[in-house]
Amino acid sequence: MKKDKKTAGKTNIDRVLSSISLRKKAPLSVYFVLLALYVAAATIVIVTAGDQSAVTIFGAKMSVYAFAGIFSALSNICIFLIAVYYGKLGFITAFVLIFGQLPSMLIGIFARHNASSLPGLFTNLFTIIATIAIYINNLRVARFEEKMRDQAVTDRLTELPNRFACSEFVGKLVKGSEKFAIVSIDVNNFKSVNDTMGREAGNKVLIEIANRWKKAADEGTSGTVDFISRQSGDEFMLIVQDYDSEQELIKTIKHYQLLVERKVTVDDCDLYLTASFGYALFPDDAKTSDGLFSSADAAVYELKRNSSDRILRYNPALLKNERSVEIEKKIRTALVSDSLYFNLQPQYDIDHKLRGFEALARMKDNDGSLISPGEFIPVAEKAGLIDKVDVSVFRNAARFFGNLIKKTGADITLSVNVSVRHLMKNDFIDEIKSIIDTCGVPADKLEIEITESIMIDSAEKALQCITELKRMGLKIAIDDFGTGYSSLSYLINFPADMLKVDKSFIDKMNSSDSSKQYVAAIISIGHIMNFDVISEGVEQPEQLETLRSIGCDFIQGFIWGRPLSPEAAEDLVVQTMQQV
Ligand code: C2E
Ligand code: MG
Ligand code: MG
Repeated sequence: MKKDKKTAGKTNIDRVLSSISLRKKAPLSVYFVLLALYVAAATIVIVTAGDQSAVTIFGAKMSVYAFAGIFSALSNICIFLIAVYYGKLGFITAFVLIFGQLPSMLIGIFARHNASSLPGLFTNLFTIIATIAIYINNLRVARFEEKMRDQAVTDRLTELPNRFACSEFVGKLVKGSEKFAIVSIDVNNFKSVNDTMGREAGNKVLIEIANRWKKAADEGTSGTVDFISRQSGDEFMLIVQDYDSEQELIKTIKHYQLLVERKVTVDDCDLYLTASFGYALFPDDAKTSDGLFSSADAAVYELKRNSSDRILRYNPALLKNERSVEIEKKIRTALVSDSLYFNLQPQYDIDHKLRGFEALARMKDNDGSLISPGEFIPVAEKAGLIDKVDVSVFRNAARFFGNLIKKTGADITLSVNVSVRHLMKNDFIDEIKSIIDTCGVPADKLEIEITESIMIDSAEKALQCITELKRMGLKIAIDDFGTGYSSLSYLINFPADMLKVDKSFIDKMNSSDSSKQYVAAIISIGHIMNFDVISEGVEQPEQLETLRSIGCDFIQGFIWGRPLSPEAAEDLVVQTMQQV
């Protein structure tokens, strides 16, 4: 920033930085009050100085000119206060006031030979010395403050304004009524520069980019009034003012884009970089500083996640994506720390005899609250992490289940969910084999649940995998049956063992006769194909009764059991075995 001081007040960035003061200035109104007080005190001094008469105050006689001393001290205090609190203006004012008194004193002493003004003259001289001392000290404090401010608002590496300066500036702009845009910039693949060329080279790249952008903002080459700051790492924030239309704003953003895309030569290596620009408009997209920052960030995250575009305006749908990004991070962390865990929901036959459990993935948020699998499983699927999630749940649940069977000798089945994307992976079968080998669960005690959609989307490959699983001795359940569109002819050839009727049908079942007939038809079809049928999400006794009357084989639902911790599931098995 040092270099910029020479041009202080000329560029937008400098203007902004100067406006971010660390100390609040004393209000001008107090300056005028002090000035008025000074004039009043000085007038009283003039009026009383030559008066030889006396007045009686609280019974004591006092000469009137004694008041001159008191008011003279008061007027000097006013001068000091003005000099201390009003910088250059205060210094000049103090001098004008002190020198304004001098002529009358000098005339009194030298022309009228009146020595009574002599103490006043000396007081004035001392006041001048004190005022100069105050001014010099003020200058030093101001210089120190400026240095402090520069350090507080400047990024050490690039010398651009930093995150603090940027948020102060945006805070100020938000208080005004003028429109502006905030553009979050992220240099693409910057990590690979650091990884391949080292951090020092990475720093040089950042400095080069920052210099180009700062020059553009300082010289106004984009045609708009811009302010650029470095937030952290390879993240920058551009504030654009004074644009007429969104097209003009995009023109400015493209200007900065071109600057980053120009060749950067570092340590004799030519680099070609790109950056993503996510922007939000005040007041259209957000009305608060925080809102603007997170909106622009959401836009840039979206670009980085799944877009080949480089520029994107915030829209409310992105907040949802922002949540996905957050969840994706949590899944990755949970996978590394092996903190994904599982619950076991009991499954019963229609006579309430325990058939086994379905393993359900669970993940906790930082605050201990549960993130629903309905939320994180689709994110894991999109992010290509579902196979890892499935395997983690499968392995842990199978290990637990293997021990449970050994301990209790119970004849129960463990069902695990497998996502279509996981099933499609080439090493899927090997993974399952390795889990069976290491966890000591007999293959015929395992059931793989796959959703009906697998059969539609990826018939051939799915069929191959499922045939292989069957050959290994595992059972296959078709999950969420009824929600997809599988054809009957396909179903006939599908080597499954169990149909799971989706909860949505069970919910509606007792509301109309046709809904009940629909579930009855699914159960019949299942039986015709030689599948067992289990109904999911059974909550009410009436649903249970209906299912019994239409021949459903198994029940899974809150009515007989919610998902349990492994310990609670073990207690349930032990209890069940004791009853036998
Ligand atoms: P799903 O496989 O159909 O699992 C049944 C879901 O229904 C579970 O929700 C279970 O808690 C819930 N449920 C069972 N009975 C009732 C009931 O009576 N009332 C109500 N309201 N809900 C009931 P959960 O645990 O939230 O799982 C949701 C979905 O997440 C699962 O549906 C499954 O598709 C998926 N999922 C869970 N764990 C895994 C996993 O390890 N891998 C994969 N790929 N998907 C999983
Ligand atoms: Mg399931
Ligand atoms: Mg289901």
